[in-house]
Amino acid sequence: MRIGNISQGKIQCDSCKKLVPYSERYLIVKEKKGVESEDPTAEQKRYCVKCATQKGYVDTRIEKGEKITTYFKGKITAPPVTDDVDIEPEAVIPAEPEADKEE
Ligand SMILES: [Zn+2]
Repeated sequence: MRIGNISQGKIQCDSCKKLVPYSERYLIVKEKKGVESEDPTAEQKRYCVKCATQKGYVDTRIEKGEKITTYFKGKITAPPVTDDVDIEPEAVIPAEPEADKEE
């Protein structure tokens, strides 16, 4: 299970231990012994984009001449809304052609 999320500024990467800056994307993934797992005992890890890439959780493709990062294939969640947040979370997944619907 991979969940894309947007940092509220207090997210620490479980790999490089750096804080994920506010409004940057990060990945939540369940792992067991360092491998992605659906096991109930799997640990929930959080990775910054760089570490998610290094761990192979990122897919990149070229579409219309633009490099698109499609690393969060799972459900996309928006951060909880708070009063002092006035940014819109960016759409993480680009629009798909109609003939190619997911799910
Ligand atoms: Zn990291």
